[in-house]
Amino acid sequence: MGDRSVGDRLKDFEEVDCGLTPQEAIEEAGRCLQCKKPGCVDGCPVNIDIPAFIALIAQGKFLEAAASIRQQNLLPAICGRVCPQETQCEALCILGKKEAPIRIGQLERFAADQERAKGLTIPARKALTGKRVAVIGSGPAGIVAAGELAKCGHSVVMYESLHAPGGVLTYGIPSFRLPKDVVKAEIDLILAMGVDLRLNHLVGRTVSYEELDSFDAIFLGTGAGLPYFMGIPGENLSGVYSANEFLTRVNLMHAERFPEYDTPVARMNRVVVVGGGNVAMDAARTARRMGAEVTLVYRRREEDLPARAAEVFHAKEEGVMFITCANPVRILGDQSVSGIECIRMQMCNLDESGRPIPEPIDNDTFTLACDVVIQAIGQGPNPVLVSQIPGIEKGRAGNVVTGEDGRTSHPKIFAAGDVTTGAATVIMAMGGAKQAARSINRMLASQ
Ligand SMILES: Cc1cc2nc3c(=O)[nH]c(=O)nc-3n(C[C@H](O)[C@H](O)[C@H](O)COP(=O)(O)OP(=O)(O)OC[C@H]3O[C@@H](n4cnc5c(N)ncnc54)[C@H](O)[C@@H]3O)c2cc1C
Repeated sequence: MGDRSVGDRLKDFEEVDCGLTPQEAIEEAGRCLQCKKPGCVDGCPVNIDIPAFIALIAQGKFLEAAASIRQQNLLPAICGRVCPQETQCEALCILGKKEAPIRIGQLERFAADQERAKGLTIPARKALTGKRVAVIGSGPAGIVAAGELAKCGHSVVMYESLHAPGGVLTYGIPSFRLPKDVVKAEIDLILAMGVDLRLNHLVGRTVSYEELDSFDAIFLGTGAGLPYFMGIPGENLSGVYSANEFLTRVNLMHAERFPEYDTPVARMNRVVVVGGGNVAMDAARTARRMGAEVTLVYRRREEDLPARAAEVFHAKEEGVMFITCANPVRILGDQSVSGIECIRMQMCNLDESGRPIPEPIDNDTFTLACDVVIQAIGQGPNPVLVSQIPGIEKGRAGNVVTGEDGRTSHPKIFAAGDVTTGAATVIMAMGGAKQAARSINRMLASQ
């Protein structure tokens, strides 16, 4: 419902979901029961007053609804599009017991889009405190921390290693799910509060960790941009990408428009994507838009796919073929990829999280011909800076350890987002960043 036709959307990278019309939004909002104890709010990591903004939409007060959301959420147009509402706020909607839950994400997106169309208002900022905070990384964690700290009157310098801000919002999530102008508008609003954004600054390389000494506090929002690889023969062949690299080449460097832009991707007639999460779906759907025939190989069963159901649905609609219960063992080719050999898997015991453990079935292999392999099997915390901070406590996966308040083992350093949790979600990064910004503010106020 509300999606562009498959034929249309495979021709470009424009947004697939058309969103709600004002009439549809009012009708949908009118279904809300306005619960006295709204479960949906408990399911929102940034605690938006969901019944309040929905009531305003039902009355046709769209801008007031957007203002209400903004009290808790600095990135509503982004969250309305990419948050996994079906496992968060919408999962706790009481209506969901008997019929479809309220489409909270769609309503959030609707209000935010209405507001953007009318022109966004820069959030109020308190008088300058004279305190300086360095925010490292400009993904959702960094943006939210920067915005919350700027609101409190602190001077914020945000360092970003890439040439554009936004982290995964910009280089990872394709524009057919999250248009770049939506991301830009929400980031610009935060920059307009006086945040000093320094692009092309890789802290730990082009800016040393020691240079951050003069700041009163440091926030780490460096994300989980380190891709994992399968460690199988053939991974060094030309035509093998991590999903991060492939998506960055397209989203940030416009490889789909090579040679108009000077970053290419390998010739892609047949692509195999390995993995079953949102990242795998994004890579597969991107490759489809670049004209390739795409097969996705996933080691567990279809029902175990970790991607959002909507992403799987869209990928299938767009012609991505799925092979489940299979795992690559070797990438074939001379200098470039010519195929991939996989082994069939069977599901055995359950792991700690209740998911079945896949085991290979001896000698049951098959080969797929392809010229590109995209690995989307997960990613870990970015180590460049964290590895240089003396004594900072890290977890087994290299993630920075924090308390609930975002404090690290270093008294001046706070952290949130994927660098602390490993690959997670936009809203988790935002929720953590809000907590950390509050802690930083408290610390600075007490000095
Ligand atoms: C392809 C893809 C699709 C996804 N889809 C969804 C989705 O639909 N819904 C959802 O909720 N989540 C999704 N996620 C996950 C979500 O995007 C992340 O959980 C979220 O972006 C984490 O935010 P962050 O700010 O912690 O890190 P990031 O977004 O990774 O931002 C970190 C930033 O820090 C910068 N950086 C790193 N090191 C340094 C340094 N030393 N100096 C300066 N800058 C540095 C990086 O360049 C980057 O810009 C997806 C992830 C990917 C990869």
